[in-house]
Amino acid sequence: MWKTIRVIILLAILLIVGVNAWREMNQDWSKPILVLLHPINADGQASTSRYIQQISSHDLDEIQNYLQTQSKEFRGQPVAFHFRLGRELKALPPKVPEQPSALDNILWSLKFRFYAWNQHEGMDGSPSVTLYLNYYDPQIHKTLKHSTALERGRIGMVNLFASHKQIETNQVVLVHELLHTFGAKDKYDRATGQPIYPLGYANPEQKPLYPQKRAEIMGGYIPLSQTKSKIPNNLHDTMISRVTAQEMGWAK
Ligand SMILES: [Zn+2]
Repeated sequence: MWKTIRVIILLAILLIVGVNAWREMNQDWSKPILVLLHPINADGQASTSRYIQQISSHDLDEIQNYLQTQSKEFRGQPVAFHFRLGRELKALPPKVPEQPSALDNILWSLKFRFYAWNQHEGMDGSPSVTLYLNYYDPQIHKTLKHSTALERGRIGMVNLFASHKQIETNQVVLVHELLHTFGAKDKYDRATGQPIYPLGYANPEQKPLYPQKRAEIMGGYIPLSQTKSKIPNNLHDTMISRVTAQEMGWAK
């Protein structure tokens, strides 16, 4: 009898803790959102270093405008996103394990959170989200590994090309990862890379269905046929669907 009551009380406490954690994860969108970005020379190349030196905060205007326009569609007024370019970091974020088990994933996310905590300096203020931008010279790295972001801890590691030509595709990757930190889920098939119908389509009701003109930002790609899709060239080639907006708490 007493044992049962103790178990019930314990479960009740766990439930309260869980609900509180869940509440913390739900962003208050009426407040300004500060996104802090730290560039990192991930491949140690002099060319990458030169690229990082000349990144300017104006490079972030496009992203800021995009998110304000998209959030306005759902909320009536734009979310006040502020992007800030932080200092370059010398330490690399922990490597994402290849073909990880569930335990590997948990350990990696703890390591990543520890890294973020370690890199934080008082002058960074208290950002809503911190993204670590790993830059690679595209002359040496033709493809990049998957970027990763954590909703718990609101941190993300984004792999990008250190090249002017790729500024706009970098922006698409960056926004995709940023939205993960607010709870948006992937809407593409991990095995094939194809956007999932209908959730990963910008316009699932279009007739004929293919080719689609834009990508749903969490679908990642523009579907051209049932088996083919292409990378969006820039943020104008993408949109945020109602489902993604709901996952982030922009829409009901
Ligand atoms: Zn993703």
